[in-house]
Amino acid sequence: MFDRGVEIKTPAQIESMRSAGLVVAGALDVLRRSVRPGVTTAELDTIARDHIRSQGATSNFLGYHGFPGVICTSVNDEVVHGIPGPRVLRDGDIISIDCGAIVDGWHGDAATTVAVGEVPTEVTELMRVTEEALWQGIAAASLGGRVSDISHAVETSVDAAGEYGIVEGYTGHGIGSAMHQPPNVPNYGRPGRGHKLVKGLALAVEPMLTLGSSDTRTLADDWTVVTSDGEWAAHYEHTFTLTDRGTWVLTAMDGGEARLAELGIPFGGH
Ligand code: MG
Ligand code: MG
Repeated sequence: MFDRGVEIKTPAQIESMRSAGLVVAGALDVLRRSVRPGVTTAELDTIARDHIRSQGATSNFLGYHGFPGVICTSVNDEVVHGIPGPRVLRDGDIISIDCGAIVDGWHGDAATTVAVGEVPTEVTELMRVTEEALWQGIAAASLGGRVSDISHAVETSVDAAGEYGIVEGYTGHGIGSAMHQPPNVPNYGRPGRGHKLVKGLALAVEPMLTLGSSDTRTLADDWTVVTSDGEWAAHYEHTFTLTDRGTWVLTAMDGGEARLAELGIPFGGH
């Protein structure tokens, strides 16, 4: 069912999205443990491909507007949409991995940034601040609120943490029977605006932060988004929904239960 362009899922459909979310969580777990100096981004793509297939799921990235991989691999100054290929990861790199899966026609979408060996403290901090902004955004969502409550919480969290560029050209999004649906979920803005947060809504929240300016450009491959100033970037993403009982992070292995407890947010999953 759609309400002004926004897809409202039934509880059974949300269960399918949880199944897709668990496939994504599992894939990112395996990938996190596979990242090391010497591995290529194409090898990571193969690992993700095998995992998704082994779970009886399919990829929503593969073939999306012609995208050739099942994951996006964005290294260092690459922000999002990097194409897996022969690039070899080196000690001191960071890699953002974005992964999605479909189960019974329902989608999951999540991303994480992983350090390859040792990285400087400011880079570790960039990663921590980006992940924190993601969770603060999710924590700001409650039934009866508005989409931009999330946006505002992401921005506020980042501003409190220091000087970071918040990439504005790419946003979070509604998700369900398609990977990208209305409404957009920007990573900045005033609260109290946009579609009402209701049961059956599912959103992907995905802050992208840089150590420099927020300006980006797209490489000649028409996919890879890099920072204009060459500074490094991090990207974290989860798909979540709201139930009568609280918040359910569909792409977190534990449904977000542990982190939500730390944040004082009721867990809405099972
Ligand atoms: Mg994604
Ligand atoms: Mg997304």
